[in-house]
Amino acid sequence: MKLSDSVRKIKGVGEKAENCLNRMNVFTVGDLLEHYPRDYDEFKPLQPIVGLREGMVAAIEGSLSARPQMRTAGRLKILTITLQDESGSVLVTWFNMPFLRNRLKMGTRYILRGWVVRKSGRLVMEQPKIYTREEYHRRAGKLRPVYPLTAGLTNNAVTKAVETALRETEDLQEYLPTEIRKRRNLLGYKKALRQIHFPENRREMCEGRRRLVFDELFLYSLALAYIKKNDAVPSSHVIEEKPEAAALLDSLPFSLTKAQERVLGEIMADMGSGYAMNRLVQGDVGSGKTIVAVLALYQAVLNGRQGAFMVPTEVLANQHYRSLCGLLSDRGVRIGLLTGSLTAKQKREGQEKLAAGEWDIVVGTHAIIQDKVEFDNLALVITDEQHRFGVRQRESLFKKGEEPHVLAMSATPIPRTLALILYGDMDLSVIDERPSNRLPIKNCVVNTSYRPNAYKFMKEQIDRGRQVYIICPMVEESGESELENVTIYTEELREIFPSSVRIDSLHGRMRPQEKDEIMERFARGETDILVSTTVIEVGIDVPGATVIMIENAERFGLAQLHQLRGRVGRGSEQSYCILMTGQESEEARERLSVLAGSNDGFYIAREDLKLRGQGDLFGVRQSGDQLFALADIFEDAAILQEAGEEAKTFTGEELALLYKKNRRLRGRIERYLGQVTL
Ligand code: ADP
Ligand code: MG
Repeated sequence: MKLSDSVRKIKGVGEKAENCLNRMNVFTVGDLLEHYPRDYDEFKPLQPIVGLREGMVAAIEGSLSARPQMRTAGRLKILTITLQDESGSVLVTWFNMPFLRNRLKMGTRYILRGWVVRKSGRLVMEQPKIYTREEYHRRAGKLRPVYPLTAGLTNNAVTKAVETALRETEDLQEYLPTEIRKRRNLLGYKKALRQIHFPENRREMCEGRRRLVFDELFLYSLALAYIKKNDAVPSSHVIEEKPEAAALLDSLPFSLTKAQERVLGEIMADMGSGYAMNRLVQGDVGSGKTIVAVLALYQAVLNGRQGAFMVPTEVLANQHYRSLCGLLSDRGVRIGLLTGSLTAKQKREGQEKLAAGEWDIVVGTHAIIQDKVEFDNLALVITDEQHRFGVRQRESLFKKGEEPHVLAMSATPIPRTLALILYGDMDLSVIDERPSNRLPIKNCVVNTSYRPNAYKFMKEQIDRGRQVYIICPMVEESGESELENVTIYTEELREIFPSSVRIDSLHGRMRPQEKDEIMERFARGETDILVSTTVIEVGIDVPGATVIMIENAERFGLAQLHQLRGRVGRGSEQSYCILMTGQESEEARERLSVLAGSNDGFYIAREDLKLRGQGDLFGVRQSGDQLFALADIFEDAAILQEAGEEAKTFTGEELALLYKKNRRLRGRIERYLGQVTL
């Protein structure tokens, strides 16, 4: 079996499984081997019953204190027992497993392992698996992979397929140069794969992961080095500062912060220099990056040139399009929108206008880097939420013009040293100040028993004309679809709130147009509560929203929570972030308290790093940015540093040679160059 073979080649993978895997972008054996576990299930030592807590998965051993009880509720058959050990007792329930009733005997000791939840105030273990002593001890201490799944696919099926693929793939040879592996003390490729999928213990998992993370970051650094332009590139687009921009500034309801002014000054200096700008603007969520971009675009247009503004999602493209129109249309600037969901005709018309110079500015998703799109006189290319784009996408847009100026914007608070590696080819500007009208967001971490209070609080805010986001996370295990999940939650909410409260919902599976309509209604203040998945994570700006409640906050990474929280606190009103936790582990509480204690993205990133620390984590990436399958630039900062150093030791010629000789390496580098990370 070869890496490039279809997953169907793997014994046991039939058509149905193949379709399921395809839906997760797993097509080849190689893809499957890089379908890394999202978590590991660990069979820990048995718990005394008195030590059970809500939200934990635990194993207990004990005997029945009475005969099993069976009742029916609707279509459900519910079997209940009370299991007791020396320390106490707990209720245990199974759904639709009536046959267990005769299997469970009084006087026998059982080991049960399952989720502990709270039902009507009491702890209940739900749907546990039953083990014999031998079975349990055989598994104890081992880590079992938990894979990302889609409906119709079981974890067991994926596990088996990966096992087979690991055993039977012939071309899993090493591709990293040996010296580097030695110097950096990295496992061989095959071993690393084995250890990340099927580690005997945490140490093995961490070792395997380290090697694979190194790969990602090293290859990314090489990709960057390969395209890197060391010398300043002369550009014919000399953009001079025009006085009309001052009138635009005067018309704004606010004045720029010092940091915004400074960064804008750096941009204008670049664009006026006769050399192509290549600059990254970093600024925490809500620091006001958009207006800086708008001013730069306006200057380009005032100089008779075109500008392009590329963003990672359609929702964001529409939002930026509207705000650009609001600011610039009256000033004679012609603005167009180009996204994937337009009709072929609309796209063609847009392309014609761009090519003829009838649009001055185009806002869009990656639809604007397609081959067919041509510009008349493109001088400035801006990408928002840069971390969502691959290197080559930035490049493609660059190639649309004659040495246009490039400006990338990112809210990821990367420490300077890391930014220099990740964006090694760019100059760096930082907006390190918030608009002065902002009150710090008030945060709280609460458990589900607080929910009625939270709703009451939301109602008060809504009565004062404010708006609310509720983030309900995707539940993978239950097999519920994203749609069902959001819809059910919304229905429940409609019953709780009076009908005067206008509630809408948004999720990733909707058609782009539908998403946009819902977002626009919310932005116009015609919706009071927006129930959403994390699709609103990047960039969305609705200053009237003052409350965000994040359900199951413990399931998100701190960086992602910070981005989500950044959807509020964007105006002058006091804003609130309610972090609701479904399960209370000490660790989750500690993590969330970092977020509750600060609104500063850089600080949070640093603390996150400290907390996750030494091998304590399972290597599960939680953040929403998807440039890397495993690597997390915060958590893996040290590896990024090493990988960056290694990549730097290659001269341009060596690199070109390596690139030619090592086809496998090359394939991987190319992937980074062109990766679409939407
Ligand atoms: P981000 O940096 O997250 O992209 P935005 O550019 O979307 O943030 O700005 C967030 C909000 O702050 C917007 O509603 C914008 O109009 C507003 N804003 C931007 N600059 C200022 C400023 N100097 N003073 C007050 N409000 C500002
Ligand atoms: Mg933004």
